[in-house]
Amino acid sequence: MLPRMGVCVSVLASGSRGNCAIVRSATTSVLIDAGISCRETFKRMKSSGDDPHTLSAILLTHEHSDHIMGLATMAKKVNVPVFMTAGTHHAWQRAMRDGEGQYPQIGKLEIFPAGHAFRVGDIDIMPFTIPHDAADPVGFTLRTEGVKVAFATDLGYIPVSVRDHLRGCDVLVMESNHDLEMLRVGPYPWSVKQRVMSRVGHLSNDALAEFFASDYDGGATYVVLAHLSEQNNHPELARGAAEKALGNRQNLLHNRVLLATQSAPLDPIQL
Ligand SMILES: [Zn+2]
Ligand SMILES: [Zn+2]
Repeated sequence: MLPRMGVCVSVLASGSRGNCAIVRSATTSVLIDAGISCRETFKRMKSSGDDPHTLSAILLTHEHSDHIMGLATMAKKVNVPVFMTAGTHHAWQRAMRDGEGQYPQIGKLEIFPAGHAFRVGDIDIMPFTIPHDAADPVGFTLRTEGVKVAFATDLGYIPVSVRDHLRGCDVLVMESNHDLEMLRVGPYPWSVKQRVMSRVGHLSNDALAEFFASDYDGGATYVVLAHLSEQNNHPELARGAAEKALGNRQNLLHNRVLLATQSAPLDPIQL
């Protein structure tokens, strides 16, 4: 594949059946989460113009299955450093124990504490704590070549600490999980509805719209709505809520709203 200049963001899959995205600079590329099978990740990478064998690292947000399902195989196949918090690592190992109680191992494990920046190649990465019912979950900002990209999915609400990390971004990948009314009347058992709606569950269209309307600096070129529920949301409801809140701040240069999906990769975003 031809080397390309500039920064590229590819959301390969997004939703409760698997999450996976790539941020690439001219020299470095990192995979964020490995929630679909290794085979499907490779297939989607190739269709987005990414060569799996030029990956520099894998970053994990948390241990829920829709973020780690393909990890063990991916890590073996591409043999690159895998970065996660200690809490995520312990929870991943416990969840993936084999029949004899043996913990799975990662060849090149890198543990980071939330809130401490690190670097992969020419990409500066800042992991930040998010409110979600996992062991030690994080979102990420990635900076390279003067571009800043943020990933904030799987969070019950947007605390002030997270809002601070979302300033000055060129691409915001944000959770727009459910429409509250669809969730309320939908098929989930009440206990699951309560979990999704809780402060450590998932972000609703309205909660994201509230952020856009009240506390967002408006500077991103692209806003990607991600982790949409297939049962409790509709892409046009998510888009409508976000676009209404962004209002006249949307134009060719700012706040173009894109929707990430489960079934197919989003067209790569070139910056
Ligand atoms: Zn989760
Ligand atoms: Zn998730």
